[in-house]
Amino acid sequence: MALLQISEPGKSTSPHEHRLAIGIDLGTTNSLVASVRSGIADTMPDENGNHLLPSVVHYVDEKNSIVGHGALQAAQMDPVNTISSVKRMMGRSFAEINGEINRSGNKIIDTEASVPRVETAAGSKSAIEISSDILKSLRDRAEKTLGGELFGAVITVPAYFDDAQRQATKDAARLAGLRILRLINEPTAAAVAYGLDKKAKGTFVIYDLGGGTMDVSILKLNKGIFEVLATAGDTALGGDDMDHEIIDYLMAECGEENTDEPVFKRNALMQARNIKENLLTNEKTDIKLLLTNGKEWSGQLTREKMQVLVAPVVEKSLKPCKRAMRDAGIKKSDIDGIVMVGGPTRMQIVREKVSEFFGQTPLTDIDPDRVVAVGAALQADMLAGNKNNDVLLLDVTPLSLGLEIMGGMVEKIIPRNATIPVARAQEFTTFKDGQTAMSIHVLQGEREMVADCRSLAKFELKGIPPLVAGAARIRVTFQVDADGLLNVAATELTSGIETRVEVIPSYGLTDGEIESMLKDSISHAGDDMAARALREQQVEADRLFQAVSAALARDGETLLNESTLSEINDCLNRLGEVSRKNDRNAIKTAIEKLDKVTQDFAAKRMDLGVSRALSGHNINEFTKEPD
Ligand code: ADP
Ligand code: MG
Repeated sequence: MALLQISEPGKSTSPHEHRLAIGIDLGTTNSLVASVRSGIADTMPDENGNHLLPSVVHYVDEKNSIVGHGALQAAQMDPVNTISSVKRMMGRSFAEINGEINRSGNKIIDTEASVPRVETAAGSKSAIEISSDILKSLRDRAEKTLGGELFGAVITVPAYFDDAQRQATKDAARLAGLRILRLINEPTAAAVAYGLDKKAKGTFVIYDLGGGTMDVSILKLNKGIFEVLATAGDTALGGDDMDHEIIDYLMAECGEENTDEPVFKRNALMQARNIKENLLTNEKTDIKLLLTNGKEWSGQLTREKMQVLVAPVVEKSLKPCKRAMRDAGIKKSDIDGIVMVGGPTRMQIVREKVSEFFGQTPLTDIDPDRVVAVGAALQADMLAGNKNNDVLLLDVTPLSLGLEIMGGMVEKIIPRNATIPVARAQEFTTFKDGQTAMSIHVLQGEREMVADCRSLAKFELKGIPPLVAGAARIRVTFQVDADGLLNVAATELTSGIETRVEVIPSYGLTDGEIESMLKDSISHAGDDMAARALREQQVEADRLFQAVSAALARDGETLLNESTLSEINDCLNRLGEVSRKNDRNAIKTAIEKLDKVTQDFAAKRMDLGVSRALSGHNINEFTKEPD
């Protein structure tokens, strides 16, 4: 747990010490950035007054990309190079996102080494890189609005995000040049925005219906500490499903049969979304649809009818609500407040169904689109040290964490829904006589067998003293920090040897990869440096090539046997070849090889040079002391 800073009584940070901290809601459909300015937390609009940034990136060509509204439009014309819902790919393997691939229209490739990548006009991109482009855009907006360098950011993630997904989010932030103050759960941020953390105690439900995902979380506040009691949701339920319901109805109305034609479908979906949003403030709306037979269909849709169409989607969202209450062990009467989050929760039908289900009117004063970003900004302000009197947030682990034991089974060390930060330890022993190493396989998930859980990391504890099976005592400690990231340590108790890993999830990036990507991303400076280093190497290659060629012409035949001569010639030719290409390492290797094979030759030439210089002279002329 991080230590909280405490200032002297009466001395809070003065204005010039105010650090610029931001809160980011990195959503599947839309993202926002907020900050606390003059004591008020609010989201920041772009230059056109839009607060929402569609989480869409369009790669135009190798150098240019567009993020947000422009990219959303490009999705119609160039779906292959436009990526939406990248959040669903974060920290996921190719197999895990298989379902997404068919839907997206992008070309996603399986890379055996680490993360799956999307082929684009700007080369292949990982989810982390795409996400970091969205974060960069928000960072630019914040820097322009606030007029200074940012101290750091709080980024929100769904409460159910596992280690790999959280790590991937952190990596994307680092790549975007943002310092992460903390990752916090989206529902927690929403509760903070409503100031629920200021209450003495209570149990709150956060109902979040987004574009393509539904999450419900139950938070408990006690003595100034927030705890997430349970989370549930549906990763394939949201406003997009409402759009599909509307389209299905309209297709029947207008008699279109060719509904799967891709361009038509994309246009129709975009239109359904506009119709739905439009009906929030209008009683009815006129609709014109260009059919695949070239004819135009005109019609109307009323709000009333639309609400009937989308009602099944809302009904479906109540199931996870039941599940979360059951997991948290609470009754409807225990609930002190319900917070509404996400675009679709502006709709009357959603508000009605939710109030009916829980038996109380939900909180909707803060714009449900912005509430998460606002809460994140409040936390960022506190973590940056601009406020001294605020709450410490506690979240829970979304899934159980454990170890592989004999027989391909999983022993759980930290159970699901444990309050974090948390540390738990368990002792294990060796299986064979004289066993000196033990392989530690860290897994996440609720199932009993390794094959059914998600592998997070593998490492080895070596140097266990050879004892009879069952005599060695190995203590394995799992520690989850305030960001929800896992550290595992294994200690052999009789000898004290220890190994620890910060779990780098299988589908995240290694530190090395991040570093090299960071280097790439400081792009032009980096390019220049690399180009210069290459040029220097080429110059050196040319110099050596010339020198060795001249030496061979002069003394090669005199001093070298045939095989050495041909060996040197081979190396020389190789250097000549690679020096014209742009592979710095290959040039370096060729230089080193040539240097090596010509060492003897160089020594012999030196001797020869000396004897030539000496010829016709007496050695005593050189060794005689001056008079
Ligand atoms: P996410 O959290 O997944 O990024 P949002 O909370 O931004 O998503 O929700 C996006 C969804 O909200 C979209 O389906 C969009 O159509 C819907 N939405 C936005 N405004 C309205 C509105 N006025 N009426 C109905 N739905 C809306
Ligand atoms: Mg959201």
